[in-house]
Amino acid sequence: MALNRQPKLKLWRDVFDSLNDAVLVLSPQFNIVLKNPAAEALLGTQVNREMIEALLSRNQWLEGMVRDCLERRQESSCADATLALAGQNLAVRAEVAPLLNESGQFKGAVVLLHDLSHQKGMELVAVNGGENDRVLGLSPSGLAHEIKNPLTGIKGAAELLAGLFPSEHRAQQYCGLIMDGVSRITDLIEQVLSVSGPQRLKQEPINIHLVLHRALGMAGLFPSGASAIRVEQVFDPSLPDVLGDAAALERVFLNLFRNAIEAIGPAAGTIRLRTRMESQFRLRMGREQRRFLRVEVSDSGPGMSPEQEAQLFTPFFTTKPTGSGLGLVLSQRIIALHRGKLWAQRCDESGLTGMTFKVTLPLADGSQAKHGE
Ligand code: ADP
Repeated sequence: MALNRQPKLKLWRDVFDSLNDAVLVLSPQFNIVLKNPAAEALLGTQVNREMIEALLSRNQWLEGMVRDCLERRQESSCADATLALAGQNLAVRAEVAPLLNESGQFKGAVVLLHDLSHQKGMELVAVNGGENDRVLGLSPSGLAHEIKNPLTGIKGAAELLAGLFPSEHRAQQYCGLIMDGVSRITDLIEQVLSVSGPQRLKQEPINIHLVLHRALGMAGLFPSGASAIRVEQVFDPSLPDVLGDAAALERVFLNLFRNAIEAIGPAAGTIRLRTRMESQFRLRMGREQRRFLRVEVSDSGPGMSPEQEAQLFTPFFTTKPTGSGLGLVLSQRIIALHRGKLWAQRCDESGLTGMTFKVTLPLADGSQAKHGE
């Protein structure tokens, strides 16, 4: 009998492991009985009791659903919620159901989390690129144009005004403030515009290492030169191409490198780049299972306080005097439009003291074959 049952158990396990939705099974004592690879892809590899308790205390809505299930055996669902993870917020659909054995005994709670970020990305694509633009009669680029026009006038007027009072220190100072403010707003608009048109993203096979080297070059880190920062490259050279837009991905990694450089500061430091196949994360696209690769950027900076970490990926969150607080938000959006993920953790096993930013990207069509799967 045991032999007969074995393949079936294995089949169940394979089904469980192949689900794209994150599934966690919690015992009535709050222990994790089971978790599938999608749960680790969504929540990170350290899915343990401590991590789940922290997750639930950050997400009171989910804690309520789990408690209702564990205490009252109630089933509940939430069609669209924001799940606050350590480094990012994620739109999810959540379901919590009681786990019962064959004889109807209550064994715990099954928690299912369905990542809606891709769907939301597509909704945004539809809103930005589709008919809905015409609801207000204004596209994002149209709005940007309308804002930039008067800004040009303000900047010109401030320059003229400064010219009228060349020896008035205070007039020069105030005009300088106006011109700086205008430049700042123009930069912000440019940054938002650079990713507000998802239709501009190309879909080409790209060698991720070339993208990384170009971004390192733009950050002044490659080939290694005068910089006091050592770049460690732990690359898997056999990685297949990813599918995407090289220029947009270069912007993402350039932003991560600049943040790492700024976090390290003027002293010597290390940035570690690691690339590898994402062993567990798969996404079903039609009849095909798409595989992913992962890039990790770790630094030897001071890291972030838990309060700061909770605000990462929030628009306009910055700790820098001249920061925009948009770099990570826009980077996350670019990666989501590639159907990948970008999130952050404090450096763990890497031996470095700062932050690790992790990016998953789907491999280009046909890439699966190279890895024999
Ligand atoms: P900006 O660089 O303009 O501030 P970002 O969105 O790129 O905008 O970053 C937001 C904030 O996240 C930064 O101001 C900084 O506080 C924090 N941050 C980003 N990367 C790191 C890092 N590698 N180490 C520590 N803090 C970081």
